[in-house]
Amino acid sequence: MHELSLMEATLAIALTQTQAAGASTIHSLELQVGTLSGIVPEALAFAFDVASAGTAAEGAELRLKTVPTRCYCGDCQQEFQPRDWIYECPHCHRLSTDICQGQDLILASLEVS
Ligand SMILES: [Zn+2]
Repeated sequence: MHELSLMEATLAIALTQTQAAGASTIHSLELQVGTLSGIVPEALAFAFDVASAGTAAEGAELRLKTVPTRCYCGDCQQEFQPRDWIYECPHCHRLSTDICQGQDLILASLEVS
């Protein structure tokens, strides 16, 4: 399961940050899930329950935020949000292969004490 290994890696970062902050409990985490990442939010929530068991994050609130895909058009020098799966610039109608957002899983915020 792809989501479990991603969640384990994300949780490892969160636990390291918690330790660095001198805290012992994670109360909530917010993750940004890119729409192109291929991650299934429900599977991620399940993976969190499994991966957090017995850690400082056990019982923490997990908030998942979906992040839309954004592309960059080199001709117009601006970002745009593509419609569907066609990355066409709405200004000049060229196709872009430069995806600047939407492919990753990001740990956006962490509440600890
Ligand atoms: Zn353009």
